[in-house]
Amino acid sequence: MDHLHNGTQDIHALIVDDDDVDREKLLRLLRRVPRNITVAQAASQAEALGMIRDPQAHFDIVFLDFGLKDGDGRDLLPEIRAEIDPDVPIIAVTGHTDEQIAADSIKSGMTEFLSKRSLSPERVAASVEEGIAWRKYRQDMRRAEEELTHRSLHDPLTDLPNRTLFADRLSQACARARRSGDPFAVMMIDLDRFKEINDSLGHAAGDAVLITLGRRMREHLREVDTIARLGGDEFAVLLQNVDGDESALAVATKLTELIEQPIVHDGRLLYVGASMGISLCPQLGYSPEGLVEAADEAMYEAKRGAKRSTEKAVIARGEQRRTVRADERTMLHDIEDAMGARAFNWHWQPKVDMRSGQVLGFEALVRWTHPDNGPVAADALIETVEQSHLLEDFTYLTLDTVLGQYARLEPGLDGAGISINVSARMLERPGFVGHVVEAIRTHGVDPAHVVLELTETALIAHPSQAKRVIEQLQDHGVSLSIDDFGAGFTSFGYLREFAVREIKIDRSYIARFTESRFDQSLVTSLVVLCDCLGIPLVAEGVENPETQAMLVAMGCTCGQGYGICRPMPYEDVRGWVDGWNATHGEQRMRA
Ligand code: C2E
Ligand code: CA
Ligand code: CA
Repeated sequence: MDHLHNGTQDIHALIVDDDDVDREKLLRLLRRVPRNITVAQAASQAEALGMIRDPQAHFDIVFLDFGLKDGDGRDLLPEIRAEIDPDVPIIAVTGHTDEQIAADSIKSGMTEFLSKRSLSPERVAASVEEGIAWRKYRQDMRRAEEELTHRSLHDPLTDLPNRTLFADRLSQACARARRSGDPFAVMMIDLDRFKEINDSLGHAAGDAVLITLGRRMREHLREVDTIARLGGDEFAVLLQNVDGDESALAVATKLTELIEQPIVHDGRLLYVGASMGISLCPQLGYSPEGLVEAADEAMYEAKRGAKRSTEKAVIARGEQRRTVRADERTMLHDIEDAMGARAFNWHWQPKVDMRSGQVLGFEALVRWTHPDNGPVAADALIETVEQSHLLEDFTYLTLDTVLGQYARLEPGLDGAGISINVSARMLERPGFVGHVVEAIRTHGVDPAHVVLELTETALIAHPSQAKRVIEQLQDHGVSLSIDDFGAGFTSFGYLREFAVREIKIDRSYIARFTESRFDQSLVTSLVVLCDCLGIPLVAEGVENPETQAMLVAMGCTCGQGYGICRPMPYEDVRGWVDGWNATHGEQRMRA
């Protein structure tokens, strides 16, 4: 029989039951499970607690009776999860057969429910296997979450905090300073001569410089300080308890020395320098953006001055507030005109199942050609619109136009839906959901075919508003896609909390995907996570067949991108669908 045990690990089970006969019976059945099982037994809450708390003990699975003589077995749940393992499978074993009790026990955190009256060797063996599989699934998911959280908050090259984490720590520091007056400094650091090294000696040399300098600065700073890499050769530091120019400049001088020490790479000595800008809180106020902006401006001033003097760090004094630039103002004016003239177009980009070729849906993307300046990039247009009073009208114009077009095409689309991008700030508008529902109804579109895309940062920035809006939309049958996923998330809890129809991996990850191991493992983790949550994952920015093949091999099968099809004018969609189905339909038939 020994071969049955090969490859499966030994299992330590705990039975908690005050009835000797029942315990014996379960024990006998467990012995018949084709695995090596050792069983510990407890006849009361108190005895069970002793075993759970024993630091030497370890259990892989717990069978728990509710009615113990010294209390309800369910009271032990928190302790079991805390002391043994948060993911340990706990199987309820009771004399009841009531379905309500089964449901309640699952709700109260049990993994499964066994009725004492229907215990059989098969049932018990199955519950052991399922319990162990359940634990593995939970652990995989937890690990994937932890890894993704770490990645999402750190720069892959230097492993320093990234922009997102820096922003988070900065806003905490601002809140603390406001509350208790704790002063701090923000320092922006930009390397000098880095670009020359990178260009002339290659990326490996550039990477070595960044890694070495990141480590030197991190080692010098105190635990309470934060040093982040914001991107390129730009670093930012948050210095706690720095109350004036003098102490800030002392740190700047020390960091400059560290940066200027030569770096050995590939038998060469590399020399870089740095320009620094500093802003102090509370001297320059409590606004995170304001402090960063001021430090940034000071840094540029240092950079300009660096050519002339030895002054490498500049402290911001803060008077100049940025005013709206004239060209932004005229841009807004032109957008307003374009809206009146309905001069915007939406191009459609298909989203397909990359194995079968089935068309799953389309995303509408705005296009605008400025009368004098030519085509305007969609994100630039949207950024301006979002900061203006035009946002609401623009959103409703988008919904009206795109849904109108979709209504005309829908019959020929074979169930493929339409995705519309929505700006985060729309979540704050009171009439938003009503308007969406109304637009869908007016055009006679099936709400189940409509998906709104919201960026992940929107959900994080306005979690409670987002939750409310999403629930209301869901009540009306409209679902939600999380766009640009992976760019700024800090927690996955909301994925479970929000009813999410799909997740779109940020296209920057997909673009670097075939070369970057980091991005590949990010995708692998996301596939695991989405699998566990049962949410489809979509890769956008799929530009070539290699990327497509790798994604499919990793289990990410939905894709969108130039490599599949570029966004096209609405008028072309029908023809495209026909042509596509003619080539891929056949393939599907064969598959
Ligand atoms: P997004 O929602 O992430 O849209 C995908 C963007 O990726 C589109 O850029 C699309 O043209 C582009 N793209 C598609 N396939 C590929 C590819 O294989 N490689 C590369 N490099 N890019 C690809 P686009 O149209 O410039 O839109 C940029 C952003 O502007 C969108 O990003 C979205 O956030 C926003 N946007 C576009 N249309 C609207 C709209 O009607 N309303 C709102 N609120 N935002 C919009
Ligand atoms: Ca989108
Ligand atoms: Ca996107």
